[in-house]
Amino acid sequence: MAWRCSGSSNAGLVANMWTHGLITEPLVKEAFLKVDRRHYAPGMPYQDSPQPIGYEATISAPHMHASAIENVLSRLLPSETSPAPRVLDIGSGSGYLTHIFAELVGDRGLVVGLEHISELRDLGEANMKKSPEGKKLLEAGIAKFVVGDGRLGWVEAARAGEEQLGTAWDVIHVGAAAKEVHSPLLEQLKAPGCMFIPVDDDSTGWDQSVWRIEKDEEGKVTRKKLFGVRYVPLTDPPRR
Ligand code: SAH
Repeated sequence: MAWRCSGSSNAGLVANMWTHGLITEPLVKEAFLKVDRRHYAPGMPYQDSPQPIGYEATISAPHMHASAIENVLSRLLPSETSPAPRVLDIGSGSGYLTHIFAELVGDRGLVVGLEHISELRDLGEANMKKSPEGKKLLEAGIAKFVVGDGRLGWVEAARAGEEQLGTAWDVIHVGAAAKEVHSPLLEQLKAPGCMFIPVDDDSTGWDQSVWRIEKDEEGKVTRKKLFGVRYVPLTDPPRR
């Protein structure tokens, strides 16, 4: 699939992801059109493949970003029951997906990009500042980048005026392969809420499988294996 959706411009790439059924929701298409990948993947921004961003990290392929967004969309958009969605993007790397999330959560939403390498935290923020749309979302406090160990999740105080909604996450996206579904992540997931997480698994011929984990209103957790992937590991920071 990696070669299929490549384009010669951001609009071309997004059109190809739409044609191949990787993006199916008009709202998602709009968000991808608003965020130009050239601000995040300097080498070959419109190629449908992962690209190195330094520090042993990669920006994931566009079709993986599309799949991640589509798989969590039901909990991502503001709704009557969740008017201010909170999203945790673990392993934010380039910041690209953090920005896409922030385009979708609405004016009251909050997206936190979490990195364990401070230079990559800064890179995500700097990349997002390159466009007026990204800059505005950062200034409005809808998106922010922090440093920490993603295996522990992240507790972010509610924004002013949203305190009654608590600090649990409507969506947790993990952009690196975990050894297991770390329990703090499950604890910090809202009921209802959902998680997209690649977990080590050599039973599929791939290195890992992506799981979609759903927590319902009563707190009951169900897990669905989606597909095989190869992500960089969710681990200790590399020694330098
Ligand atoms: N979504 C990002 C993916 C970057 S690659 C993008 O498309 O740009 C995965 C990222 O996970 C790397 O940036 C890496 O530094 C980060 N990472 C790995 N282990 C981590 C951990 N324990 N805590 C936080 N981030 C981690």
